[in-house]
Amino acid sequence: MEALLTRHLDATTPLNLAAYQAIGGYCSLSAAFDLKPEKIIETVEAADLRGRGGAGFSCGLKWRLRGADAPSPRYLICNLDESEPGTFKDRYLLYGGPHQIIEAVIVSAYALQAERAFIFVRGEYAKGGHSLNQAIQEAETAGLLGSSICGSGFNLQIEVHLSGGRYICGEETAQINAIEGKRPNPRPKIPRPSTHGLWGQPTTTNNVETLVNIPHILLNGADWFRSLGVNGGCGPKLFCVSGKVRHSGLFELPCGTPAGELIFEHAGGLDEGRTLLGFLPGGASTAFLLPEHLDLPMDFDPVAKVGSRLGTGSLIVLDDSTCPVEFTLNLMRFFARESCGFCTPCRDGLPYLAQILTAIASGEGHADDLALLDELCATVASQSFCAFAPGAVMPLISSIQCFHTHYEQHVTNGHCPFDTTTQGER
Ligand code: NAD
Repeated sequence: MEALLTRHLDATTPLNLAAYQAIGGYCSLSAAFDLKPEKIIETVEAADLRGRGGAGFSCGLKWRLRGADAPSPRYLICNLDESEPGTFKDRYLLYGGPHQIIEAVIVSAYALQAERAFIFVRGEYAKGGHSLNQAIQEAETAGLLGSSICGSGFNLQIEVHLSGGRYICGEETAQINAIEGKRPNPRPKIPRPSTHGLWGQPTTTNNVETLVNIPHILLNGADWFRSLGVNGGCGPKLFCVSGKVRHSGLFELPCGTPAGELIFEHAGGLDEGRTLLGFLPGGASTAFLLPEHLDLPMDFDPVAKVGSRLGTGSLIVLDDSTCPVEFTLNLMRFFARESCGFCTPCRDGLPYLAQILTAIASGEGHADDLALLDELCATVASQSFCAFAPGAVMPLISSIQCFHTHYEQHVTNGHCPFDTTTQGER
């Protein structure tokens, strides 16, 4: 499959307006304005575009449930607060193609009849946020943004909101609080942001990778989009592969590409003499998969069927030189630090899990710690307020299941079975 979303993009130099228009940029605007918003929503639903931010919820269904005729004012949020460990796909879109993002936001806002849109950018991507602001100005000057865009009568204002820099700001309700200038605690999911979002008004949040597909769907149709996937997947997908592979990087491939093809063909496989221990398929908050899953299509339903999640499509690969206990501890320390502190099970539970895991990793764990971890994970996941803690404990639960022997060795031998003195060589 020829690259669609990353074609012409260079991660270090943003395409300016002239260069973007020279490769067909902003063509989807006239195609969109010729259609009724409902028709666009119908087409996006038929394309079976699943949300690329992690949850995989149908974009078309989300748009249809919200409807173009919801009470005004209506808002669209483009979520570019990419913070999932191992995930660096949205950053590439931001740094390479700010106009591609703006075009996508305009046609999506038109479909949703939103008069104001926000692009919520991860705090650490400040330079990209700056390019985005420059591109917004360029688009406004060219009449592609603002009042009656291209004479269509549709008005849109886009604002860039740079995140304060916490993982939880990527959660859609916490993000709404952040834009409103409040502390970014998650809100209850019911009523949904689609009816009670920003300032109590209808608000739709989509990940940036999801949105940049929309102009292509509009120009080429739903069937064409579906045909770009393989093994039942639809459209292109940006996959990140990192960890113990030779060529870690970003790969735009058909949604549904098997995990083994990603790891061994595109990312160059493992170092010589190494064997695959396992991999996380979708960033840190997913469950481990094993070598037996190499033929699995990297698509939402197939990955869910084996008990994990496609998440952001960011594979983190472990070979047989990686201690899975230490690797998981690293993730748990991240999640413990990133808990927003709003609810007790998450705020106190995650650091406690990290503390027990630290003891196990350093050979000071007890025989009953593994059962305690299991029990605590279940409590933290079921009693916390938002999806953060259930996601945070997912790799830990599956790590204990998949790599039980490694955990037992740490506890019974009183030290890590890997020779830590050679860590630097591994
Ligand atoms: P979710 O499943 O609750 O919702 C996903 C989206 O679908 C939301 O926009 C939600 O409003 C919408 N939705 C769900 N049910 C709906 C319904 N019945 N009607 C209308 N809309 C509906 O998931 P979530 O808590 O929003 O997101 C969690 C995901 O975020 C996780 O899967 C995780 O992988 C991902 N994540 C991504 C990053 C990143 O950097 N990209 C960081 C952290 C987490």
